[in-house]
Amino acid sequence: MSTSPGFRPTQDLASLQFDRALQLLQQAGLGDLQGAPGSAVWLQGMIDALCDLSSRDALTGLPNRRTFFAALSREIDRVARSGEPALLLMLDIDHFKRVNDAHGHGVGDLVIKAVADALAECVRPMDLPARIGGEEFAVILPNCPPAFGQTVAERVRLRVEKQIIAAGPTLKLGVTVSIGGAYAPQWVRSTPSIWMERSDLQLYRAKSEGRNRTCLEPTPVSTVSAEEKGLLFGGNPPGELE
Ligand code: GH3
Ligand code: MG
Ligand code: MG
Repeated sequence: MSTSPGFRPTQDLASLQFDRALQLLQQAGLGDLQGAPGSAVWLQGMIDALCDLSSRDALTGLPNRRTFFAALSREIDRVARSGEPALLLMLDIDHFKRVNDAHGHGVGDLVIKAVADALAECVRPMDLPARIGGEEFAVILPNCPPAFGQTVAERVRLRVEKQIIAAGPTLKLGVTVSIGGAYAPQWVRSTPSIWMERSDLQLYRAKSEGRNRTCLEPTPVSTVSAEEKGLLFGGNPPGELE
């Protein structure tokens, strides 16, 4: 069994408490572990299942906010080194409060789940779609040329627009999404928050121009902000630790 550097078991495994972890895994349908309880295979299975559980959103099964931010940091570093274009899409369901108000929170949850499923079906296996807030989603698209970015964003928008959501025996609903997108600056050290702000600005534009639309920055941004210039010369952006 490989262990992290510095890992030294200090307790007899028999004295460790697994009940709570097992209970959580069983509730999530992940409690079916291979191997004899207490064996290395069984423990590894438990660790893997707990990692899976803590990286996903419980309602939709999509990667959660924590997974998203970790992936965003990795991707922005990769783009700075490789110069490959990468797109960040942000999506928000239009007038979602009306769904909750008219049909209740349970139906609202079904709608969020349906939009998540539609989103996951529209992206490539290498992309990372995530639920980052109540009715807000994001997708990281590595190696995404500008023409493809526009196509995939529109594909998601149209797929959601056409979807009929069966929310009860007689209740069928439709919703739309607004989508904003921005490319990571290539060959430049930047920060996840700058990238998100750019993408969010485009989402705001899509909302203010009437919703159910896609607004992307036309090309990867080549201008460098003062904050990014600071990073190039080794400084830390405000509010970020070394
Ligand atoms: P806009 O088109 O401007 O986005 O309008 P909106 O009505 O969608 O506005 P907003 O984004 O502010 O509303 C989000 C609502 O989502 C408010 C909140 O009650 C609801 N919400 C947040 N999380 C959940 C959730 O997990 N389940 C359900 N059913 N509702 C949620
Ligand atoms: Mg919202
Ligand atoms: Mg909304």
